[in-house]
Amino acid sequence: MVQSTREAKIAAAPEHDPFVAAQVQFDHAAELLDLDPAMRQFLRVPQRELHMTLPVRMDDGHVEVFTGFRIQHNDARGPNKGGIRFHPQETVNTVKALAMWMTWKCAVVDIPLGGGKGGVICSPKAMSATELERLSRIYVREVWRIIGPHADVPAPDVYTTPQIMAWMMDEYCKLSGTSDFGVITGKPLEIGGSLGRGTATAQGGWYTVREAAQALGLPLKDASVAVQGFGNAGSYAALIGQEQFGCKILAVSDSSGGIINENGLDINEVLKHKRETGSVTGFRYSEPISNEALLELNVDVLWPAALENVITGENAGRIKAKIVAEAANGPTAPEADEVLHGNDVHVIPDILCNAGGVIVSYFEMVQNYSRDQWTEEDVARRLNRKMTESYHAVLDIAKARSIDMRTAAYVVAIQRVAAAVGLRGWV
Ligand code: GLU
Repeated sequence: MVQSTREAKIAAAPEHDPFVAAQVQFDHAAELLDLDPAMRQFLRVPQRELHMTLPVRMDDGHVEVFTGFRIQHNDARGPNKGGIRFHPQETVNTVKALAMWMTWKCAVVDIPLGGGKGGVICSPKAMSATELERLSRIYVREVWRIIGPHADVPAPDVYTTPQIMAWMMDEYCKLSGTSDFGVITGKPLEIGGSLGRGTATAQGGWYTVREAAQALGLPLKDASVAVQGFGNAGSYAALIGQEQFGCKILAVSDSSGGIINENGLDINEVLKHKRETGSVTGFRYSEPISNEALLELNVDVLWPAALENVITGENAGRIKAKIVAEAANGPTAPEADEVLHGNDVHVIPDILCNAGGVIVSYFEMVQNYSRDQWTEEDVARRLNRKMTESYHAVLDIAKARSIDMRTAAYVVAIQRVAAAVGLRGWV
């Protein structure tokens, strides 16, 4: 019954719409939970959406008009929380999906925050620092009335950086006449950032991979790893795998293409090469490999760490990794989930695997509220505990109900959010 409804929805869905994918995932778990129909109707859409038109004076004097969004999916458990993406292919439905995933992410790791996300359709790689600053500041001038340290707290995401967070925080503080640094997380250390925030997504993901490997009886020392995407999450996933867990990183990629060395890449050297040339491609001790072929490598751990919808119904049957650690948001389409589960691929779903970023964002908020600065060890210890406990809570449900890890994560998250919505008397 549950299965057939999900299949029908997948068949009817417009292809590659992340919001449809997010709703299919939600509906599947909501049916398992026999969730009240009104609660279900309420939770499967965002509470609020702001669409913005952002005119920016470019360096050559002409004005470019950008479109931006901030979507607040649910704040029953606390302020909306989630990043802002700058991306040429950004769509409102992508931002809606990402906002909804943030709600479940914060709930599954049990931090007292809701879900939100922002986005601007733009090509940050083609923009100068001054253009990016003007865009960041006008974005905040439009959104500042609905964000705030107790309302909605943005953070970095794809192609947004600590410097961009600094401009946004500054603009908010000027407009509100406050020093509420906790309005934005992922800031530089000098202005209220947290130690360990830069590495948090990858570090948190590795804590869950460590637990998964142990549960599967897979030693991580010399385990083979492939990483798709070499931004913040992907590059640190590769580096931490090599340095902390003694893994062999066979292949990495970025938007220009991938590189492979069967004996393992030296990630510090790859990072240097990327800093110098702007891409991982052309690294001297490697052969080229496409992003698509990288996903199908016979490795112990595969990290999709770029964008959504890269493991689909088309290639899912060819995924050979034992563990798929979803550092990206939404990398796996719903129809692929069933194939991976059927093939015993252990998927650590995005809302659990990449929650380290928002967990340390939450730590940053707590430090900002209390005007405190925690040590790196303190942050790592607390992150480790949160990720380990959350992983096992999800694994236990997956085993007890014989369901896949993603559905189990949704079951945990939806129950927590629905309880908050009910207790507050909303539905
Ligand atoms: N953008 C990250 C995510 O998707 C972090 C969000 C945050 O720190 O608020 O989880």
